[in-house]
Amino acid sequence: MDEQRRLRIAIQKSGRLSEKSLDIVHSCGIDFNADGRVLREVASNFPLEFLFVRDDDIPTYVADDVADIGIVGRNEVDESGYELEVVRDLGFAACRLSIAVPEGFRYEGLKSLEGRRIATSYPRILSGILEDNGVKATLVTVSGSVEITPTVGIADCICDLVSTGTTLRMNGLREVEAIYHTSAVMVCRPGFRQDGEKAAILDRLLLRMDTVNNARKKKYILFNLPADRIDDAARIVGGMKSPTVTPLLDRSWVSVQSVIAEDRFWSVFEDLRAIGAEGILVMPIEKMSD
Ligand code: ATP
Ligand code: ZN
Repeated sequence: MDEQRRLRIAIQKSGRLSEKSLDIVHSCGIDFNADGRVLREVASNFPLEFLFVRDDDIPTYVADDVADIGIVGRNEVDESGYELEVVRDLGFAACRLSIAVPEGFRYEGLKSLEGRRIATSYPRILSGILEDNGVKATLVTVSGSVEITPTVGIADCICDLVSTGTTLRMNGLREVEAIYHTSAVMVCRPGFRQDGEKAAILDRLLLRMDTVNNARKKKYILFNLPADRIDDAARIVGGMKSPTVTPLLDRSWVSVQSVIAEDRFWSVFEDLRAIGAEGILVMPIEKMSD
């Protein structure tokens, strides 16, 4: 296949984003080898080429046309300063950028940071937020182990990514304020989606992703019901044009099939039981188009 006609996706080589990023591609029925040693890989049954790189580099690669799209934390995109288009918010790797202070530090809001030294790996995001709040502080930029900086005396407090808070507590730090929320996103260059052939490949990929995603949020439901309660059942199940209703041998009963949102399942289940539904079966849906 002509190299030009493949969509190039940048994925984190090894880290918190890697596995879920590859899962998304796999769930779209795209086959490839990702053995963690090669930097570049080509899918065998879809015009997709992978670049496995450090997550910090992904926004730059996408901005510079080295990759067409990338899966990366929104924090890295914002910190890079590149204007990229978020094609999909993928929702995983959710975490927050928080201010954390050592014992004895009195924190009463961002103004308590005035004149302080704050260690962070996200100076662009942090300085933007401090500026918006009229706070002047000295930022100490470090690329890792931010949580040890107060102990070693190079900062008064920190601003770092937190998901559970365990790392902070282990280092004697107290999370006092979340200033920014992030999760993994798929990005492309602005204007890329008007870019003919490659944009069409991205559309195909997105259609597959959305189809899998739709299905995950829905359940297929099947139950038996006294025939005279069908209107009630249609109201409870809701959200669809018409449930499929099949007569049973005993003509006073029908079998009903429908699709419901997973997060409504228990309330639908209880309401259906209350109108006499029996034998309620619920099944996962593998793929579902609109
Ligand atoms: P690389 O070697 O690729 O540069 P890294 O160490 O910078 O990796 P990871 O620790 O794998 O990166 O984190 C990648 C992304 O995962 C972060 O940018 C962030 O969006 C997200 N993330 C989710 N939870 C956390 C957390 N508790 N701490 C840090 N990042 C998190
Ligand atoms: Zn990184």
